[in-house]
Amino acid sequence: MTELLYHRDSYLREFDAFVVEANNEEKAVALDKTAFFPGGGGQPCDRGWIAETPVTRTARQGDIVWHWLDGEPPAAGTVVHAGLDWDLRYKLMRTHTAFHILCGVVFRDWKAQVTGGNMEPLKGRMDFEFETLQRELVAEIEKRINAEVAAARPVVVRVLPREEAFQIPDLIRTKINLLPEGIREVRTVEIQGLDLQADGGTHVANTREVGAIRVTGYESKGRINKRIKLEIG
Ligand SMILES: [Zn+2]
Repeated sequence: MTELLYHRDSYLREFDAFVVEANNEEKAVALDKTAFFPGGGGQPCDRGWIAETPVTRTARQGDIVWHWLDGEPPAAGTVVHAGLDWDLRYKLMRTHTAFHILCGVVFRDWKAQVTGGNMEPLKGRMDFEFETLQRELVAEIEKRINAEVAAARPVVVRVLPREEAFQIPDLIRTKINLLPEGIREVRTVEIQGLDLQADGGTHVANTREVGAIRVTGYESKGRINKRIKLEIG
């Protein structure tokens, strides 16, 4: 099982780890711990390097995070130094937090729920069950999400025992009840005063780090389903 260092510290850029397994055919390694985000929840995986060899892709298989290398993998049993492509990661942290601001504002002010989303560095899209959303509301949404950036709200990450997380009523809307039985701990990401979600992604520590957000697209995917596109910076 890989220890997920980014779960507790999303700002960790470099780390030392022990090579648990090396797959020479696939040029992939598993480490005892990692700061690499393996992708999930709409956030793309990290890139970077392990022992000076580029990491082109990461993915989670069960409890293990695999890192695919552009070169020979280091041998199992060795200790390696590794680091992230921080430019990419920090853009994704800002983007992910921007989408939580959007979720928070849309739920607080219109009670609309998210159904899905996808992110790239500094842009992405999010889908809502949002019957009352019309094109005229888009400028109002943009104004309100930027007000939350300006409010400089702290973003707090916690890892809670499952039972404790299940006591938090706000988490129900993020479908916490659908988490598999085997999961003993729930990680929560809270934008203080705005949004609280069960979430495995990486975020900035304060909404002001997101910077200016633009709503660049709006699509009606039917009477209820609506898509909002954002760009940052
Ligand atoms: Zn998220």
